[in-house]
Amino acid sequence: MSITESEPRVLTFEELGVPDAVCRSLQHRGIKEPFAIQRVAIADIMQGNDVCGAAPTGSGKTLAFGIPLVAMTSKGSPRRPTSLVLSPTRELADQIASEIKSLTQSTSITTVYGGVAYGKQVNALKYGTDILVACPGRLEDLMESGTVVLDHIERVVIDEADRMADMGFLPAVRRILDATTSRTQTILFSATLDGDVAHLVKHYQNDPVRHEVVPEHNSISLADHRFWTVARDARVSLLAETVAAAWPTIVFCRTRHGADRLTKQLARGGITAVSIHGGKSQPQRTRALADFTEHRAHALIATDVAARGIHVDDVTSVVHFDPPEDHKAYIHRSGRTARAGQGGVVVSLIEPNGRRAARRMQREVGIEVEIVDPDVTSLTPFGDPTATLAPALKVHERPRSSSKNRRSKNRQGSQSKNTGVKSSRSRHDASKRNDMSSTRGDQQPHRGQGSRQDDQRSEARRSNSNDRPRRTTEAQQDRQRRAEADGSSQNNRGEGRQSKPGSHRKGAKAGQRRASSGGHRKGQAPRARTSSRRG
Ligand code: ADP
Ligand code: MG
Repeated sequence: MSITESEPRVLTFEELGVPDAVCRSLQHRGIKEPFAIQRVAIADIMQGNDVCGAAPTGSGKTLAFGIPLVAMTSKGSPRRPTSLVLSPTRELADQIASEIKSLTQSTSITTVYGGVAYGKQVNALKYGTDILVACPGRLEDLMESGTVVLDHIERVVIDEADRMADMGFLPAVRRILDATTSRTQTILFSATLDGDVAHLVKHYQNDPVRHEVVPEHNSISLADHRFWTVARDARVSLLAETVAAAWPTIVFCRTRHGADRLTKQLARGGITAVSIHGGKSQPQRTRALADFTEHRAHALIATDVAARGIHVDDVTSVVHFDPPEDHKAYIHRSGRTARAGQGGVVVSLIEPNGRRAARRMQREVGIEVEIVDPDVTSLTPFGDPTATLAPALKVHERPRSSSKNRRSKNRQGSQSKNTGVKSSRSRHDASKRNDMSSTRGDQQPHRGQGSRQDDQRSEARRSNSNDRPRRTTEAQQDRQRRAEADGSSQNNRGEGRQSKPGSHRKGAKAGQRRASSGGHRKGQAPRARTSSRRG
């Protein structure tokens, strides 16, 4: 395994060997220069190497593998795609697919995940697709029914491998990799390359080139972190003020119920919020995300699982309404703002008894921020006080591609590379927002006025329900988390699940392991791993 230093050479996409047509598509989207991870990974992937890349959230990993995929993918045939991308969540799968689609018109891309009907996915696969973007649960279902066969997969990308591990998807990922052939090029991207991810790298990659890129400015150091003490019953009104001062905002809650309740409470304070969590149907999740990205809502209220890995341009602030589970969750949640080299603010609402835990978490994250009384006026540099919401869509209208247009416009207006210079103002072009502004005069958010008693009552109900002993086992909770993320059924995705007869699992044909065979042989059978090599 060779280690590549993170010092980037400044090469253009053309110099990295990216085909002209793809360069033109990038140019068209306002993407002119490769980010650090792209500078190091694209050429290696295009040379056919296995690559494992670690880079922080928002550093441009999707294009780091998306560009080579588009450049290299050969034609798929019915049921047999030639490239596969695995994603832990449905939203991320959609985003990966649309990012790749923006680069090409000649490569067909199909997305499969749970929580939606099979029909369209099955038809697309039967017809034949080149690149398949999939969540593990639904993909395994489709493999079992024979709707998709992975023996023609030339390269597979595992995106957000650490999230995949956190969410208990690795057994499914291993089964899927086992069903590809031993000559498959395996590319893995992750925020970190330790623990279970290291295991995946060791056993499923063939002498991978390893790139660990720490850009000069990752989103954690670029964001402005605030820790505010607030009494439990004052959190909602403080949140409403915060959103009003620095929206678009992603607000993180611990539970689905909490997210829904908060959405209603904010509405009473004049804040338009939409929520996204595993209890919502996929169309509801898609609509909520579209309403938020297209600025028809001030805030997106999310649970951790649902928001995993999603990228929304120009998120001005992230609020930890409920504290994150651990420092990794803090980094992940906070990474939804200050992305792609831009600025943003991250506000943690700390209850008086949560100060110590907050300090400990700061140490683990590697930031040092005083825990102070709230000061919403200090957020003004982040928000645009003249901004108004876009008009709500009429019921019969579907979410449009306007976010894409706006994205590319915004990108042209802001910096196009990871220079790390804050540029929050350019992201909030007031005149543009005003052009889109609604005839509904009440959409300008103002201080939350929801009844304090209501808040107190519901908060009390919430803490009561949280204190109740949990009846579900850890395994059940794990299954539920996976189902929330990729929409798979909750019954059959556990560690112990056996793959169907005839699938190619550990020990099947040990001699065919690529590593031991010393290279990529044509016409090899599906990968087989020895049992001692699997965890
Ligand atoms: P990650 O997967 O590392 O979290 P993404 O791939 O989601 O990050 O990229 C974050 C944002 O940066 C996306 O909007 C993407 O279009 C944009 N982006 C990626 N590469 C570039 C580039 N070279 N120049 C400008 N913007 C880019
Ligand atoms: Mg990503």
